Order: sequence, then structure tokens, then C-alpha cells
Amino acid sequence: MINNSHMNRMGAMRWLLPWLGLLMCAAAWAGPPTVQVQASDEHLVLLPRAEMLEDTGGRTTLADVRGNAGWLPSPRGETRSFGYTRSAWWLRLRLESDARGATQNRILELAASILDYMDLYLVRPSGEVVASYQTGDRRPFSQRGLDYRNPAFTLALEPGKPLDVYLRLDSYDGLLGSLAMNLWSEGGFVAKSNGETVLFGIYYGTLLALLVYNLLLFLSTRDRAFGWYVAYVASFFVWNFTFLGYAQQYWWPDNPHLNALVLALACGVSFINFLLFVMEYVQVRAYSPWRLYPLALLGLAGCVAVCLPVLFGYFALGFLLSVPVWLAVMVGCIGVGVVMAMDRSAPGSRAARFALLAFTPLAIVVGLYCLTLAGLLRETALTASSLQVGSAAEVLLLAFGLADQMNTLKAQKLAAEQAARKAQAALATRLEQQVQERTRELEQANRQLACAAITDELTGAFNRRHFNEIFAAEIRRRRGSEQFGFCILDVDHFKSYNDRYGHQMGDEVLHTISAALRVRLQRSGDKLFRLGGEEFGIVMGVDDVQQAWRFADVLRSEVESLKIPHEDAPLGVVTASFGLLVVAAMDSNAQPKDIYAAADALLYQAKSAGRNRIQCGVA
Ligand code: GH3
Ligand code: MG
Ligand code: MG
Repeated sequence: MINNSHMNRMGAMRWLLPWLGLLMCAAAWAGPPTVQVQASDEHLVLLPRAEMLEDTGGRTTLADVRGNAGWLPSPRGETRSFGYTRSAWWLRLRLESDARGATQNRILELAASILDYMDLYLVRPSGEVVASYQTGDRRPFSQRGLDYRNPAFTLALEPGKPLDVYLRLDSYDGLLGSLAMNLWSEGGFVAKSNGETVLFGIYYGTLLALLVYNLLLFLSTRDRAFGWYVAYVASFFVWNFTFLGYAQQYWWPDNPHLNALVLALACGVSFINFLLFVMEYVQVRAYSPWRLYPLALLGLAGCVAVCLPVLFGYFALGFLLSVPVWLAVMVGCIGVGVVMAMDRSAPGSRAARFALLAFTPLAIVVGLYCLTLAGLLRETALTASSLQVGSAAEVLLLAFGLADQMNTLKAQKLAAEQAARKAQAALATRLEQQVQERTRELEQANRQLACAAITDELTGAFNRRHFNEIFAAEIRRRRGSEQFGFCILDVDHFKSYNDRYGHQMGDEVLHTISAALRVRLQRSGDKLFRLGGEEFGIVMGVDDVQQAWRFADVLRSEVESLKIPHEDAPLGVVTASFGLLVVAAMDSNAQPKDIYAAADALLYQAKSAGRNRIQCGVA
């Protein structure tokens, strides 16, 4: 049974195979899939309608592929990425004009940013080659049909005369990149071109404005973060300008090798500049738990290393190595950013939050782009334009972040200055207060000292030194203008008081008498001196001799009325004797020592006359 059915199947295959071969040949000779072009069509996306053929040897010619049976339908999607391949690829489709009578002029755009070699053939179904072009970014710009950043060619579609488009794609060293094919009406192409001019004008204008502005900031502040930012924006600008074909159109139309070199290097240099900028901006060196700084340096070294193959002409290898390094660097940047942004104590925490906000969306877009270019992801229109939007947003946000940092620094500086000023003012006030306090203390101490210097410690009366100092001056001052009295008083029988009551009690007596006398001497200018021992001197203003005597007697009775017991004295209490000299105002010749001697003599007389009395005289 088994053998039988097997035989049956084999038999069927024998019948089927020639038919299948015939069918395939018929498909090949049926020609490319047809695209009907209506007069009203402004824009047709051709790629999904084309057929594809892989040429693994890379040697097939147009004649070889036209009859080839291996053509496959193109996958869906406006763009196709080929990634790394040693093969060449063929694409084909047939354009047929639907317009009756009139020839349609159309523009075929090959939107391939980094495709090295593209050979375009316009062929009649009969095999007649109407036109052929050698283009791609590894060929001079002059070989393009139109003066446009992408290779674009005009073609005429005549009614009833289909035109087959054959396109051969090949790479310099293995990286084929991505392709989109568009068929435009002339009006549609002009509109698209104008739209791009405006949009990219705004885009590059923004980049350039930020570049110049931050360059000026760098020149004036010398802050390296601004410098690296400018370098980053400049290299990114160059890369983007080259990547979109503008550099080849405007800067070096006849130097495709330079174009390829700049395209590959500018991207690597952008990464390096970006890393250097971020390291400076978030101050990763100042903040380095888990050795973030060496990690950043490692990323930097990786970025530099992947530029080297490009310098030696290995573009595809350079890019192949770059993709994992760049992806790792981007993931690393985001990781470091998250760590620093979360750690609010980090000096660059706020900057890290800005960088993260700016960089993360772009990193995702760049990551997707790298994967697409490597052929690992299907390209969509979104990834191409989001690169522009993401980069513009990133550059803007980073510039904003820099401005914010400048603002923060300014605010911190201002606050620090204010604090310093406040502290300085407080210090000055405190110093001033201290000086005032010390001055007051000093003045008081001086006053106390001055007071102590002229005061007798035991009795509180002026001391003998002060008497010596001012007695002559006092006499000079009063002499000729007012009459005054000088009186010497001496405590009676004081020796025996001491002997009986002790020296200490004697001291107290002197103190008590002095205090009592000072209470009485209230007129300004009246002064009490302790001249020595139990002897006091009084200088006082007087009206006349009688009044002087009366006043002296008041003092005398004051002493007596203190009733200090003194058993060895005749009255049983302590008394004092007074020698009072009244110096007339007219007496301008009286000398201090004469006045003193006269008063002393009067005191002696008072003692002799029985004590506790006043002996009065006039000078
Ligand atoms: P007279 O009535 O003649 O003045 O007799 P007197 O004893 O007061 O005179 P005298 O000059 O003989 O003695 C004075 C005494 O005063 C001798 C001394 O012991 C005493 N004296 C002097 N200075 C002080 C003092 O500062 N404190 C005490 N407690 N006694 C003093
Ligand atoms: Mg005495
Ligand atoms: Mg005496």
C-alpha cells in the first residue's frame, strides 16, 4: 500500500514538473508587475509593487535577470532595508500610462540615503533599453538626473508604450542600507521638494541658531559643557546634512569618497562629542559611585575605537562594530542618567534629569534606526522622520537644560553672595557691639580706676595724693573771685581709742565720721580729703566768716552726735577738733602751703584749747 501510493505520487510529479517549469517561464516572460499610472496620480509608492531578485554572485547583467525565473514579490512597506549582504539586489516593475493620447512626464525618485551603487535601466518590454543611469552616493552627483538630494530621474510615459524599470543595488563593502521608490508628477515633486525645503530649513536653522548661540555662551563663559554641546550639535548637523544627501548636493558633489568618509565619521564623532558633553554637563566625574566615570571613559574609548575601521576604509565593518557599541553607550547613558537623576544629592542630578528627558526619546529612535539599517527591523516612514523630530527636540531640550544650569548657578551665586553679605554685616554689627561694650567697660574701668586713684579706700574721702594735686589749683581758681574756707579736723584722743577698742574699731570710726561729714558737704565745690591718720581736710565755699564758723560747727556737732562711745574721752564719745581758715576773695597772694600751715596752726590751737571745738582764723 505504501509503495503503491508512493509510486503514484512519483508518477504525478513526473507529469507535473514540466508544467511547473513552463508556468515559471511564463511568469518570467510575462514581465514585471504592472503599475498603472493615471494622469491624476501625484505620488505613487512603487517599492511594495515591485519584484525583487537576489544576485548572490553579484555578477548578473540586465540581460541575465530579465529572463530569470527567481523574481519574488517585494514585501509590503514603503521602504526596504537590505542590511549587510554580499549580494547585489535587483528590483523591477512595469509602468503603464493610463492617460489617453498624452505623454506623461514623471519623476522617479530613489530615496536611498546611503546606498552606494544604483544602476537604473528603463527598458521597453521588447528589450530595447531606453535609458540607463549609474547613480548612488558612491558616484559623483553630476550623474544624477535632477539637482536633488536623492537620485531622481525624469521619464516620459507614452500611452500604449509600457516602460520597465530595472534597478540594481550594490554596496561598496557589504552595507546596503535602505531604499524607497517614488513616482511623482512634476507638480507633486515640486510640492514635496518645497515642503522639504521649508521643513529642513527650519530644522537646520534651529540647529545652527542653537550652535551659534551656545558657541557665544561658550566663548563668554568658557564653560566646557557649552563647548562640547556646540561640538556635538556641529557634528550632528554635519552627519544629518550628509545623511540626507544635502552635503553631496551642495558641499562636495564630485567627491563621493569624502562624502562616505564624512557620513561614517560624523556619526561616530557625534557620539563622542555627545558623551563628552553629557559627562561634563551632569558632572559624572564629581559624582562617581560604582565607578561611573571609568565606565563613561570606557564608552568613550569604544566610540573612538569604532571610528578606526572607517578611517582605513572599512565602512561596513565600522558600522557593524558601531551598532552594538552605540546601543551599549546609549543604554549606559540612560542608566547613568537614571542613577544620577534619582540621587538628588548628586551635584548633576537636575542636569541628569534634563539630559534624560532630552536623550531618551532620541536614543529609542536612534536605536530603532540602527536596527533597521542593520536589517534587523522593518523600516517604516515613522523612524526616518522621527530621527529629525527626536534630534531637534533633544538639541533644544539640552540647550534649555544648559540655560537652566546657568540659571541655577547664577541663583546659587546670588544666594551665596547674599549670605556672605549678611554674614559680613552680622559680623560687623557684632564687632561694633563688642567694641562698644568693651569701650563702655573700659570707660567704666577707667572711671573706677580714676576714682580709686583719688579716693581713700577706708573712708571714701578724697585721698592725700588728690589733695596734693588739686589743692593749689583749687586755691588758684577761687583766688580773687570768691572767698573760701579750708579746714583741718582731727579726731580727739584717737590713740587711746585704738588702744582701748582695737585698730579695727578705730577704722570703723574713721569710716563713720567720713560718711557723716560727706552727707553734710552737699554744696558743689565742697570737698572732703583724708589728709592722713585721723586727720581730714575740707575745702568749702563760704559766704562770710560767721557762716563758715557755723557750718564748721555743724560738722563738729555732727561728729559728736554720732555718739560713738569712747570711755577714755572726757565726754565719753568720739569728738573732733577743727582748725578753720577763711581765705578772703581779695587775698590773691595766699600760697597753698601757707594756707595749710595756718589751718594746721588753728587746729593745734583748738586742741590746746580743750578739743571738740573750732578755732577760726582769717587769711
Ligand atoms: P589728740 O587728741 O591730741 O589728737 O590725740 P590723739 O591720740 O588723737 O593723737 P595722736 O597723734 O597721738 O594719735 C593719733 C593716733 O591715730 C595714732 C594712731 O594709732 C591712730 N591712727 C592713725 N591712723 C589710723 C588709722 O588709719 N586707723 C586707726 N585705727 N588708727 C589710726
Ligand atoms: Mg588726734
Ligand atoms: Mg592726729
